[in-house]
Amino acid sequence: MYRVNTAKLAVDEGADERPRGVNEVTRTIIVRSASLARRTFRTFVELEGMYRNMVEQLVLHAVNNNINKFTRLRAERYRDVRSLYPQLPSHYAYTACQDAAERAHSFLRLRKMGRARKAYPEVRSVSIWLDDHLWRAEGLTSISLATHRGRLRVSIELNRHFLRYVNRGWRLASEAKVKLDRRERRLIFYITFKKEVSEYRPKGYITVDVNENAEAVLIDDVVYLFETDLSRVTLGYYYRRKRVQEKYDRIYGPGSRPARRVFRRLGGNERALKREIRWKLAALIAREAARRQAAIVLERLGREPANHMIEHIKDPQLRHRVFQAAFKGIQKAIEEKARGHGVPVIYVNPKNTSRVCPIHGAEIVYGKDRHGTCSKGGETWHRDVVACYNLLLRALGGDGGVAPSRLRAFVAVDGGPVPLGPTAAHEPAGVPRALWARWRSLRPIMNEQMIEVKA
Ligand SMILES: [Zn+2]
Repeated sequence: MYRVNTAKLAVDEGADERPRGVNEVTRTIIVRSASLARRTFRTFVELEGMYRNMVEQLVLHAVNNNINKFTRLRAERYRDVRSLYPQLPSHYAYTACQDAAERAHSFLRLRKMGRARKAYPEVRSVSIWLDDHLWRAEGLTSISLATHRGRLRVSIELNRHFLRYVNRGWRLASEAKVKLDRRERRLIFYITFKKEVSEYRPKGYITVDVNENAEAVLIDDVVYLFETDLSRVTLGYYYRRKRVQEKYDRIYGPGSRPARRVFRRLGGNERALKREIRWKLAALIAREAARRQAAIVLERLGREPANHMIEHIKDPQLRHRVFQAAFKGIQKAIEEKARGHGVPVIYVNPKNTSRVCPIHGAEIVYGKDRHGTCSKGGETWHRDVVACYNLLLRALGGDGGVAPSRLRAFVAVDGGPVPLGPTAAHEPAGVPRALWARWRSLRPIMNEQMIEVKA
């Protein structure tokens, strides 16, 4: 079997001349306090009430005056909210300004895009923002908080995650958040760890082409197609919600409470499932890239849905959701995981990546499915394979533009009907989600060839 020697291509001089950066990586973990005495917990309920009130007032002011920056909001309103509750440590007024500025910022952006449903953002769930004056970790077993009744110390449940980050040299960030769990009378802390990770100089490339329901990944010389089914998940929940709505509207009238409750649950399930799919696969890809000291190559996506990707979806809201889940969200997850491993991520121009033959530079004519024929060589291509190879070529070009095809220089085109030599893998190796979701690394396909490559 003849395959393109991508390893040879990748060590090419000048392939990647970007300066290597140092990234600050952050991870947030959840730590729970032990169940608190009623009296103690009441103090935190009071604290939350005051904090919520400050945030509500600040958000109102920010939205009314089109303020989306913390510095301006603080300059205009800090004194006023500070004097509302003189018994409260002053830093709460400060973090409330940060909290409110962020809420106002995302609300104003939504409103600008015409996607805000209300005149003002609702301050529904509150987590109290803390800075280094307001909280302190005391050893590994307790946290102390500044309150209007003095400093209170709560003991925390020992947490494997927490210990792991401490042991691996991450440092504790000064900012944290705390939420009240009223049912169990506990505090839930969101604690952030930070670490500096420097990017390595890549010795090769892994290219990732994302489509609605799968991620095609070119590693060495094989394209693996990892099924994600993300758009099917989105559409599935969309239709379920629609059915629920019709049923509840018939029984309770439009916009009823029980319907909203079901919606919230469905929405939560949908988000959790998509998140899990994206992060799991991103972690597998980033880990494999780190093992090979390779860079990850991605298409540069625009802000709004690329038309050709999801042109069959007419409903604009649904298009937005499919785009976020299946394209943007995947890229974000890959970026994030890559940063954690010091893997460089390179973006290239996505124009025509699946339309031009990587060998002949001629247009590929597609039929109904994802298979097409090169208009010059007459060979058959799978769309995702084409995209992966073109992303590689553009990364090698270095400018993210349309690069001269170096692949052509390395591949002895024998004029046969199949690209990249007589029996090369022009068909991706499909990996169902049920399979990769159980893996901890990509070694099963790398070493044991569990997946048969169709030739
Ligand atoms: Zn061709």
